Amino acid sequence: MIQHWPAKRRVTVVGAVWNLVLGIGKIVAGLVGQSQALVVDGVHSFSDLVGDAVVLGAARWGSLEADHNHQYGHARIETMASALVGFLLLGVAAGFLFDAIGRLLDPDRLQQPGWLALGAAVASVVIKEMLYHYTRRVARSTDSKLIEANAWHHRSDAFSSVVVIVGVTGVIVGVVWLDSMAAIVVAAMVGWMGWKFVASAVVELVDTAIPERERRELERIIMSVDGVRDFRNLRTRRMGGGVVMDVTVVLDPQLPLFEADAIAARVRRGLLDQSTAVTDVVVGIAVKSGSGQGA
Ligand SMILES: [Zn+2]
Repeated sequence: MIQHWPAKRRVTVVGAVWNLVLGIGKIVAGLVGQSQALVVDGVHSFSDLVGDAVVLGAARWGSLEADHNHQYGHARIETMASALVGFLLLGVAAGFLFDAIGRLLDPDRLQQPGWLALGAAVASVVIKEMLYHYTRRVARSTDSKLIEANAWHHRSDAFSSVVVIVGVTGVIVGVVWLDSMAAIVVAAMVGWMGWKFVASAVVELVDTAIPERERRELERIIMSVDGVRDFRNLRTRRMGGGVVMDVTVVLDPQLPLFEADAIAARVRRGLLDQSTAVTDVVVGIAVKSGSGQGA
């Protein structure tokens, strides 16, 4: 189970509720108040809501124990969901880009946003900035990188609404194309978010190893266990939010089998307890260094 899960769930649910409120509010205000950029920003909030749902769903179903049909656990449910969300966002972003470019090329279709759209965008900036501070406080108290990332996401959402403010203000003072321009910028931000979802899912699905720096930390933990002389065949890949790995440790050939087994168990426990990323480890035993498939 995830550490500090109740606090993390609460902060994620609070963020999700506000994303829902902001999503509806901005889309309605954007349609009524004639701001294309605000509508895109509202859709962005909705896609953030879907992202929150993925986080909550992954924690709920992705952390389920392995069962008869899914013997390596369910972590890749999260990967699949974030890939789908990513493709959805890329599609949404492309749609809005074409729409905004179409309006810029055909100035008759440019809209005339006013104070309603401006007010909604300002409210969005204020709420998102408050969510940033609240979420960052929870991130500190739970020492969570994921929640910290969510906090910064709130701040980047605030920035997205600032872009809308610039666009709408532009139109109010007479720069008629600035709202559609802002819509393009916000749509690009949505597309970038979608691309990141897709890219991280692909990196995981092709079994990319973890970076060298993280790998060295795992090597250090393995070698710190008493009785381990060396190791080989260390392999890593990501699954959901975690890292799964296997390694063969080299032990003294004279050790009784029960001691060798106990050392392998300590290596496994050490990796699971000391690394924040590792979620599953298979430890093999060998008596000679060098490459090749040991025990
Ligand atoms: Zn966002």
